[in-house]
Amino acid sequence: SGRWARAMAILKEFEEKCATPISKLRQVADAMTVEMHAGLASEGGSKLKMLISYVDNLPTGDEKGLFYALDLGGTNFRVLRVQLGGREGRVVKQEFTEVSIPPHLMTGTADALFDYIAAELAKFVATEGEGFNLSVGRQRELGFTFSFPVRQTSISSGTLIKWTKGFSIEDAVGEDVVSELTKAMERQGLDMRVSALVNDTIGTLAGGRYYDNDVLVAVILGTGTNAAYVERAHAIPKWHGLLPRSGEMVINMEWGNFRSSHLPMTEYDQALDSESLNPGEQLFEKMLSGMYLGEIVRRVLYRMAEEAAFFGDTVPPKLQVPFVLRTPEVSAMHHDSSPDLKVVATKLKDILGISSTSLKIRKVVVEVCNVVCTRGARLAAAGVYGILKKIGRDIVRDGEKQRTVVAMDGGLYEHYSEYSSCMESTLRELLGEEVAKTIAIEHANDGSGIGAALLAASHSQYL
Ligand code: ADP
Ligand code: MG
Repeated sequence: SGRWARAMAILKEFEEKCATPISKLRQVADAMTVEMHAGLASEGGSKLKMLISYVDNLPTGDEKGLFYALDLGGTNFRVLRVQLGGREGRVVKQEFTEVSIPPHLMTGTADALFDYIAAELAKFVATEGEGFNLSVGRQRELGFTFSFPVRQTSISSGTLIKWTKGFSIEDAVGEDVVSELTKAMERQGLDMRVSALVNDTIGTLAGGRYYDNDVLVAVILGTGTNAAYVERAHAIPKWHGLLPRSGEMVINMEWGNFRSSHLPMTEYDQALDSESLNPGEQLFEKMLSGMYLGEIVRRVLYRMAEEAAFFGDTVPPKLQVPFVLRTPEVSAMHHDSSPDLKVVATKLKDILGISSTSLKIRKVVVEVCNVVCTRGARLAAAGVYGILKKIGRDIVRDGEKQRTVVAMDGGLYEHYSEYSSCMESTLRELLGEEVAKTIAIEHANDGSGIGAALLAASHSQYL
């Protein structure tokens, strides 16, 4: 019928606009490399902030003692404590707890958010038991993972540049997030010092390095997306401080804000962006991270419903609600291996109120999920390839036994296997067979939390 043909035309056009042939991915990777250079050359030189992390030494394995970490950067926050036993003992004991952030605190005031966090942290500290030993006379120390763009002023201070990922707390922008947290801890009567301020990519890099010396890059694919890597200090023209003894500096790219005319943007992406909390920003993130994939799928299905009566004569009311369709649901539908696509049927019914769909319709829904997932995963691979090019690990020099590890983390990478396997195979395709053998991708499971604790240890006030 005409309706079906119209729906197929919408799908086909969407597929074409989302296409990421390898030639396009190479252009994206090259643009990433160019922007990396520009962001390192001068402050504000690029949409890529290329933030200096003040981490010039990654964990060695010798770290010792009790350390805490707090990870804030998405829908949940985690608090963790770890007893480090040095080279022999390694991680002697570790405990964590995860708390969800009440949505109203994500758009309220800085004090309200930090009071809530400090209170949860204080509760957790109160449960510290056997196996955790603070040396006498010492203050507890914390690594604070704060995964929003921050202009660091030292390893343990930094001002918030802007919020992302659905947070919007105006009075915190421009403030030092460590002093906000410290004040909130004091209000809770909690005696603890923030020894390191990092973001999740830096934490993941540090945590990854603790277990594997060849880790040079870390990528987060979760609610948002970001990457960090180890740069040679003299390749950072905008750095005017002393050259670190290690000769290296970890750079927080804030790659979520990457943009390029080579990105395959569609009208759905444009509408999503202009209706978002941060229009014009985080365009790369909006095409490939967990917060947005489901919303892109919803927008395409909505268009099909509206213009091609794809789900019947009326547009299902729930399909009109922004962000009702979440990425875990997209992932579940995409992974549905039942012959009659039972999971898809159930999700459409439960989430969108669309009942009695035909198998034909469900297949189209899966295809929309596939297009959105594939584009995101391939763009993520192009980004990683761009970083490897920047640090010269996209080639193997004759006779050198080179190994480079990319530490990956985040709920999207961890749980959406179609996504992660597509990303990995695309990266191999970009690298070519010979170089691909020298690059390993490792899942740094909660590397970020342990990484922040390790950085608190290596930047302890007692060293
Ligand atoms: P955050 O990025 O908020 O710190 P995570 O790294 O745990 O936290 O990532 C959570 C995000 O991962 C969710 O917002 C969601 O987009 C994505 N995610 C979680 N579970 C799944 C899943 N099963 N399939 C696809 N994506 C998922
Ligand atoms: Mg996280």
